[in-house]
Amino acid sequence: MPSARPGCDVIIVGLGAAGACAAIEARAAGADVLVLERASAGGGSTAYSGGYIYLGGGTRVQKVNGFNDTPEEMFKFLMAATPVPDADKIRAYADDSPAHFDWIEAHGITFNNGFYAKKHFEHSTEDGLTWTGNEKAWPFYEKAKPAPRGHKVTRPGGQGKLGEGGFQLANTLIEQAKAAGARTEFDARVLELLTEKGRVVGVRYKQFDKETSVYCRRGAIIATGGFGANKEMVAKLCREMAHESFYIVGAPYADGAGIDLGLSVGADTGYIGSLLTAPFYPPASLLKGILVNKHGKRFINEDTYHGRSCTACLRQPDGIAYLICDNAIFERPEFGSQPLIDGWETVSEMEAALKIPTGALQKTMADYNAHAAKGDDPEFHKVKEYVQPLTEAPYAALDCTVGKATYNGFTLGGLKTSKDGEVIDKRGKPIAGLYAAGACASNIAQDGMGYASGTCIGESTYFGRRAGRHAATH
Ligand SMILES: Cc1cc2nc3c(=O)[nH]c(=O)nc-3n(C[C@H](O)[C@H](O)[C@H](O)COP(=O)(O)OP(=O)(O)OC[C@H]3O[C@@H](n4cnc5c(N)ncnc54)[C@H](O)[C@@H]3O)c2cc1C
Repeated sequence: MPSARPGCDVIIVGLGAAGACAAIEARAAGADVLVLERASAGGGSTAYSGGYIYLGGGTRVQKVNGFNDTPEEMFKFLMAATPVPDADKIRAYADDSPAHFDWIEAHGITFNNGFYAKKHFEHSTEDGLTWTGNEKAWPFYEKAKPAPRGHKVTRPGGQGKLGEGGFQLANTLIEQAKAAGARTEFDARVLELLTEKGRVVGVRYKQFDKETSVYCRRGAIIATGGFGANKEMVAKLCREMAHESFYIVGAPYADGAGIDLGLSVGADTGYIGSLLTAPFYPPASLLKGILVNKHGKRFINEDTYHGRSCTACLRQPDGIAYLICDNAIFERPEFGSQPLIDGWETVSEMEAALKIPTGALQKTMADYNAHAAKGDDPEFHKVKEYVQPLTEAPYAALDCTVGKATYNGFTLGGLKTSKDGEVIDKRGKPIAGLYAAGACASNIAQDGMGYASGTCIGESTYFGRRAGRHAATH
């Protein structure tokens, strides 16, 4: 028999970015908050992350660096970057973005005023602002005025190490939630939602060999993170990620428990996808190469954000893709994700070695080079900076093929939710007393083609806050 114990107003399941922000806001609204975290400490995948937060519309760091971003341009960009956009959520996120930045800073997270302008996967300097999406690449620069919106959490006084931003962010938010008066229990794995007359009224959880039921007067917020660690769920809900060669990154408890909890009480799921990437840059010179598939055809402007170019590679016939370089631009990819297949003195030798139909790659390169000589790329509109004829032998091919290049990533999306984090059932109605936020919910980040780094933590913190406020006050 599970032991029962006194209840609280709001229960939060999981203590990553979403759970911590929900707890802070629910406490600010006067609720008695209990956070249950399965691990021995909070942090989840947030602590593993690069600590980029996608914010804009005129944040302090944007203004200091002379970027006149507006909520409207941010809205237009996110609408264009999202396969099935929820305009209401994106509008709220963009409009509130400068204030959300201020709220994050007011809660002890620091961003310095530096701007990192170069192409990168994760920059290793302390600069607080950088480009983390497709804003400057076609077709996005035609849809919204580009602005950098990747805000990187900075360790106060620190020198900046890779991966440090996420740990700093998670730690600070957790400390803030505790300081605000949220009660926390660790090693507490939530197993079941308790319902009464269709309303979620509590949860059953397990700590070591002890099971406990705890009740909530106002609501339970699921903030358990993604599901990359659950192979069966990945195969069912996110087939594009179900390849044995993909390296799934994130916390070990990103096993989709929150999605199962929601489904158990009739929840619907929203848009589910993934970010899978194997960045072939830096160095930026490789963006002057061309990506071709097994038919020798180009398929994307190579200067797009790595999430988009890599997702496009994965979607080619048989997952086969090559980055073609000439001697003038060739360098080894910094992350070593793509093996070098070989070098050849002529394009026809390269074509034969790659088993591309005779003449196809030669034609692609001849067409590309003819336009590149004038600085143009009429087929895919690569920006001029990266357009240069590939004519200097020897030629090289880097292998971007599935199973050859090292793709890594995490899931995006989960439970269907309203703008305030209410979990939506299969009839389109909110489930009373149930909320979800963060990587277990579907909000803004939907797929690799449109992904901008920072949108996951951006939406986890923003919609986590909204869920905390709504649960506490309704
Ligand atoms: C290597 C890496 C780098 C990334 N970099 C970025 C980045 O720079 N910017 C960005 O926006 N996104 C990034 N992401 C994605 C981002 O980290 C996540 O989407 C985001 O942190 C999710 O936050 P969350 O609060 O929803 O979940 P998490 O931070 O994963 O927290 C969920 C918590 O729930 C707990 N939990 C799980 N199941 C239960 C249960 N049954 N009972 C109780 N507790 C439970 C977990 O232990 C965990 O502590 C990155 C991800 C990875 C893996």
